[in-house]
Amino acid sequence: MKDTILRAASLIGKSSNCAVLTGAGISVESGIPAFRGHQGLWEKYDPAEFVHIVAFRMNPEKVWNMLGEMMSVLFEAKPTFAHFALAELEKMGIVSRVITQNIDGLHQMAGSCKVIEYHGNARNLACLDCRETFDSEEKLGEGVPPLCTCGSILKPDVVFFGEPIPKEAAASALDLARESDLFMVVGTSGTVAPANQLPFIALERGVPVIIINPERIELSAYPGTLWVEGTATGVLKNIIETLESRTEED
Ligand code: NAD
Ligand code: ZN
Repeated sequence: MKDTILRAASLIGKSSNCAVLTGAGISVESGIPAFRGHQGLWEKYDPAEFVHIVAFRMNPEKVWNMLGEMMSVLFEAKPTFAHFALAELEKMGIVSRVITQNIDGLHQMAGSCKVIEYHGNARNLACLDCRETFDSEEKLGEGVPPLCTCGSILKPDVVFFGEPIPKEAAASALDLARESDLFMVVGTSGTVAPANQLPFIALERGVPVIIINPERIELSAYPGTLWVEGTATGVLKNIIETLESRTEED
């Protein structure tokens, strides 16, 4: 077993208040392309141009043509071993909450109960005029762009570039970063603010930060971080196996 896996498993085994920040990378193996990487969707569409609130308000039909394609991928996606592993770590009393930047709802589908949806959830649509909300899958069946009963175009209930983080999610994530005894960062490039600031709050308190990512990310240059190189599924499988073998030895 790799030394970094053993070190990560040792830190995780001792934790009783582990915060986890996840990003698009954890859902790549579910078939949902990340923003950064070499996959279809974002080579065709520039996220900064398409998933921006100004672009949406100016030309919702254009943005909805892309969103329609993305939503159909999202609805078919199933959680991976990595999502299940984080739910398992929650049941074991190790992970206290998962802060996810993802909008796919896969953590909840895998059984995680304490999830902070930092960027909202694409399974809901909201009207920008009257604020009424709808189920995405049902509304999209009626055609794209989906319309509210008031006649306005609906927007996925997710945080676009240029929009603030929902207050409650922002506050809970901050509390967690300030209280956690371990911080795990899974499948995120750490380039989207303000989510990318959360691990630094832990680091400043002397709390170790474990990074699970096949690529080196900037955060891994900071003292107090431990980069475990590999996919979310591969690394978490090894970590869970290591924890289980330790329990058997006890
Ligand atoms: P990102 O696209 O910027 O970075 C993805 C990261 O995942 C990269 O560092 C990459 O090396 C890593 N990665 C790729 N495959 C991996 C794997 N198998 N296991 C672990 N890591 C892997 O993603 P981000 O940092 O989350 O920022 C993008 C923003 O886009 C987020 O705010 C998120 O809301 C949104 N987004 C969400 C989804 C989703 O809901 N699934 C998909 C695309 C984008
Ligand atoms: Zn409306």
